[in-house]
Amino acid sequence: MTFRVALIMLAALAACSKGNGQAKAGNNNRESNLGANGEKRAGSASGDVATADTMKGKLPKNQTGKIPILEYHVIGGDKNSLYTRTAASFRADLEDVYKRGYRPITVAQMLDKDFSEVPDGMSPVVFVFDDASPEQFRYIEQNGQLTIDPTSGVGIWLDFAKTHPGWRNRATFCMLNGGAMGHNFFGDKEKFQGQNNAWRFQKVKWLADQGFELCSHTLWHAKLSQYPDAVVQEQIARNVMGIDSAVTGYKVRTFALPYGLWPKNRPLAWQGSWTNPKTGKTQAYKFDAVLEVAGGPAKSPYDPSFNPKSINRIEAIGNDISRQLDMLDRTKTRFVK
Ligand SMILES: [Zn+2]
Repeated sequence: MTFRVALIMLAALAACSKGNGQAKAGNNNRESNLGANGEKRAGSASGDVATADTMKGKLPKNQTGKIPILEYHVIGGDKNSLYTRTAASFRADLEDVYKRGYRPITVAQMLDKDFSEVPDGMSPVVFVFDDASPEQFRYIEQNGQLTIDPTSGVGIWLDFAKTHPGWRNRATFCMLNGGAMGHNFFGDKEKFQGQNNAWRFQKVKWLADQGFELCSHTLWHAKLSQYPDAVVQEQIARNVMGIDSAVTGYKVRTFALPYGLWPKNRPLAWQGSWTNPKTGKTQAYKFDAVLEVAGGPAKSPYDPSFNPKSINRIEAIGNDISRQLDMLDRTKTRFVK
């Protein structure tokens, strides 16, 4: 082992033992001047698709077309940035995809070619929420009663579903269970937006019960390209163990690469194991899908070149989502059931 590797391992262990992972990569405001993107986009092809009938689409079938997988981090704040989408912009995104005739599914449903919840003539869209921040899923406690904060990501989603027929609880949550700043199953301390450590498993269980997909995203968002095989597997296995603690027996099928960085030994992103030195117990993992951090709309699972171990996503930055959706309509390359 080189001195450098030893140093990196030491740093990793220190971070693990404190439950204190790498801070999110800053507050890059390069897109902040774009503001909310709910405005009407003249010349967009979306108008053609908008239909008064919200349960039936009008588009011609195209099952080898592309599927947008939208990637969100923090929902909230005053302005959009690299890892933050304001509540207003998030709502506008939901309205936009709905009007264009998209309906939500999970990555797992996509893998299974299960489009049963998408009406004919409409298209699937996958919402993915990364990093398990309290902004995504926050509880409010009043008189001993817990309610979902309507201004958190999940709260906004539920409100939207109430007024938009056919909008189901289908999205994929790629979670951390030991990240810094409350990125631990949606908040692990009072100081992170009043979230209680004891609510973490309850939230994860609730998501699974609703039909949302639970996805792995490592223990504390390690840059997997920088660590030896053993640390890579520990990061992933301990995350899967955490999910299993919240929902016993849950089969995690999807993994999202932190920062989109592959481990040096690429297959470890989808298969591996780690033995806890304290208990001697081994935790194995084997995923069906690996999500990249970017790359544009994803290939259809019916496309012969579809690779489930490298699925592209569209980051919710500025107006990238609407731009990509416009492109799919313009080029008639979107998946339509
Ligand atoms: Zn992440």
